[in-house]
Amino acid sequence: MGAAPGRLLDALLQFLNMRYISTRGATPPLSFQDAVLTGLAPDGGLLLPEALPSFADRLNDWRALPFPELAVEVFARFADDIPRARIEEIVRSAYATFRHPEVVPLVDLGRLQVMELFHGPTLAFKDVALQVLGRLFEHIVTARGTRLNVLCATSGDTGSAAIAGIRGRAGMGVFVLYPEGRTSALQELQMTTVPDENVHCIAIDGTFDDCQRIVKAIFNDLDFKAKHGLGAANSVNWARVLAQTAYYLHGALRFDEPVSFSVPTGNFGNILAGYLARAMGAPIDRLVLGTNDNDILARFFQTGVYSVGETRRTISPSMDIQVASNFERFVYYRLGCDPAALQAFMTTFAAEGVARIDGGVPEDEGILATAVDEPATMAAMSELYARSGYVVDPHTAVGVAAASRFPEYQPMICLAAAHPAKFPESVDRAVGEAVARHALLDGLAGKPQRKTLLPPDLETVQAFIAPRAGEA
Ligand SMILES: *Cc1c(COP(=O)(O)O)cnc(C)c1O
Repeated sequence: MGAAPGRLLDALLQFLNMRYISTRGATPPLSFQDAVLTGLAPDGGLLLPEALPSFADRLNDWRALPFPELAVEVFARFADDIPRARIEEIVRSAYATFRHPEVVPLVDLGRLQVMELFHGPTLAFKDVALQVLGRLFEHIVTARGTRLNVLCATSGDTGSAAIAGIRGRAGMGVFVLYPEGRTSALQELQMTTVPDENVHCIAIDGTFDDCQRIVKAIFNDLDFKAKHGLGAANSVNWARVLAQTAYYLHGALRFDEPVSFSVPTGNFGNILAGYLARAMGAPIDRLVLGTNDNDILARFFQTGVYSVGETRRTISPSMDIQVASNFERFVYYRLGCDPAALQAFMTTFAAEGVARIDGGVPEDEGILATAVDEPATMAAMSELYARSGYVVDPHTAVGVAAASRFPEYQPMICLAAAHPAKFPESVDRAVGEAVARHALLDGLAGKPQRKTLLPPDLETVQAFIAPRAGEA
């Protein structure tokens, strides 16, 4: 065969295969598998498909699909370098670990629908993505004969969900940094009682932002990252965003009219998936972004000014975040997919703690934002319980309170981020009864724990990881 047909074939394959590019524009395009393994792009940006497909002409066929089958369709569209049969195995076995036959059931509470995303192994919505991601990683690592050590920062639920996705998997290890004393006691037990030898829990004497900063710095140390086969599983990983996109589609397709979603938000991961689902044609009207007192995102969507504040501790610790790692993807789209403009925004923010988008965020982006303080969060839990006997955790309660501030948008689905039993103190206090229990969590007390306490210092953390990671 001559050169010309070869080039033609290349051009055709490039057109057919989805390629992933960095928001900062300085990373060569990657395949799906490479994008999943890479996590954070080498240029410091976040990976996105070169172009978003439209699902508009598939929606009618997808209406009747059970959630796992819809998730297969979404992954098949984006993971075009993995055979479909393998994707089916990965996705179906991931959701077979869930304790509810519908996986992500919708509960009708009258003017509010609640989508329960917490029936996975660790009782939080992150299982929806991480049960798939752990299996995707194992598939890729096994096929390539390499080793992957997942490194992530968690403010609570990411860590246990990453551990649950990776524990015992071939060719893999997992290192989790979390802020000592700033997760709930149960969240810590869920991480530190896992006995598998490929699991390493690192308690950092600092804040979640310290943990996130250290993880980012380690990933930016490209030699260290390559030598020890490190990859990310935290919410910037593209495969996580995809899994979440599937439940927005699934929820929206349960209704005959466009629906709105209310989303308790910290790192902008969950709601980003909704934004992308909407951009790809899902019949979504509004996305209500609810923050706790750490309200940087609520302020941004109200004013166009992104300005860092003090991290405050709240009863919804998984949302105690000031610098939202996934927000960069939204800014990239908002700035017209212009890496130079995005770079300028991020550089200004890093240097001054403030950056702005001229003209703010127009209404047709579909995002409404509000901050919910602790009294309003407690009131949402107690009012919902009094009205319907339904118990929500404090993160979900932020979403419930946020939804109630936009009553004109119906139907409204509030995403339930965690099982209430993960946060028994505030739930029981709000409701006035001991209602927040789950047998899985009751069984953790008294189990042996494995963790290492380290200062918030890059070199110390690297010195801990190096001998335990092995070499890729
Ligand atoms: C992670 C988490 C959140 C925040 O989700 P983001 O994707 O970071 O916005 C909210 N609630 C719970 C229970 C979580 O685990």
